Amino acid sequence: MLETICEVLEDAYKRNWITSRDGNVSIRHHDRDHFYITPSGVRKQTLQPDQFKKIQISRWIPSGTGTADYAYNWHELPYSDISANLKPSGELPLHFGLQKEMGQHKDDVRVIVHVHPTYCVAAMHAGIDLSTITNAFPELSRYTKVAPNVGDVPPISQELADQCHKMLQLDNDGNIAFDIVGIKGHGVVAIDTSPWRAYEHIERLEHICKIVLASGNY
Ligand SMILES: [Zn+2]
Repeated sequence: MLETICEVLEDAYKRNWITSRDGNVSIRHHDRDHFYITPSGVRKQTLQPDQFKKIQISRWIPSGTGTADYAYNWHELPYSDISANLKPSGELPLHFGLQKEMGQHKDDVRVIVHVHPTYCVAAMHAGIDLSTITNAFPELSRYTKVAPNVGDVPPISQELADQCHKMLQLDNDGNIAFDIVGIKGHGVVAIDTSPWRAYEHIERLEHICKIVLASGNY
């Protein structure tokens, strides 16, 4: 599916949802304790599968803490000669938090797509909470659950990761209550079981945001 992710990012670039080096995607299969993430700083319209970074997920119960909660860590695994010279996406904390447990996708695949779609970002800039527009548009709410916006947080920060996880209602088992969340002044994060399915949440929300903004009624 890494090739499909490359296709998704090429399409996102063509739609002006990212500039060359923006956007990031990760993918994990339920029976693996690693995931793949796009590298930092490469041109996404020409991304190749051998440029991805492979990330090991470590999980253990800390001794002496009196808690049964897992602790987690990650480290890079060797993957390809080309990717050895690349760094993982700066949004790794966002992806790691959503990939370390797979929640409702625990028997499947989890794909996380982060891009900067024009009308979603414009709608948030205009003061719209994306979670509030679903009610008026059944074709959106039927297939895509939209979380309340994340406010102004710095890109590639732990704060961005934490706020996205909070708004998605991510729990200890990796369950999430929503398919997509908007980050004010920045972009969106969508989650599903394939690259194109995650992409469709973005496409659907982008289409409705365009309609809402065109109507002037918000
Ligand atoms: Zn971004």
